Amino acid sequence: MSALPPAREPSGRQSKQPSGKLVYLGLGSNLGDRYANLRSAVEQLTAPDLRLLRLSGLYETEPIGLRDQAWFLNQVAEFETDLMPLQLLRRAQKVERALGRRRTVRNGPRTLDVDILLFGSAVVDCDDLTVPHPRYHERRFVLAPLAELNPALRDPRTHQSVTQLLQAVRGQAVRRVQE
Ligand code: ADP
Ligand code: MG
Repeated sequence: MSALPPAREPSGRQSKQPSGKLVYLGLGSNLGDRYANLRSAVEQLTAPDLRLLRLSGLYETEPIGLRDQAWFLNQVAEFETDLMPLQLLRRAQKVERALGRRRTVRNGPRTLDVDILLFGSAVVDCDDLTVPHPRYHERRFVLAPLAELNPALRDPRTHQSVTQLLQAVRGQAVRRVQE
């Protein structure tokens, strides 16, 4: 069986690989040196198949759910990736573990939380992964930094833009902080 020749441009040079998917990761920390945890998370996540494009500002956020805990520091990171969604989840969980996260209480204190907010225009529904993230659209601490990076981005399920989602959120104290 003959393999197809590699795609070539008219010049004869090999064409560029198709670029990857645009993904947005929500990062949060409320234990230890929160800023150092976020920096280290971005550094550990970045790889040849997960390329960092941009980072939002940092937001201090009142915890939701369990209120008797320190405020979170949150940030959204924009990456371009060649990974599949579940591979990205495993990558994110590896970095959470490397930063010493212990899964104890749901919504409880954590050195690092990495959530896959949006993965290109993919919609994923499996046991371990739901994309878009099932709760991102109701969280100001996710939508505010996301709107900094890409306000026109649309949710592939509802087709609402990040700006529209942000306008619909009521309450929730978030504060943008200087780095
Ligand atoms: P939360 O972020 O809601 O506080 P966890 O970080 O403990 O909770 O995640 C609980 C589980 O959520 C993970 O084991 C993971 O399999 C699942 N999960 C489902 N969808 C996503 C997503 N989009 N991003 C990250 N985790 C997800
Ligand atoms: Mg999480």
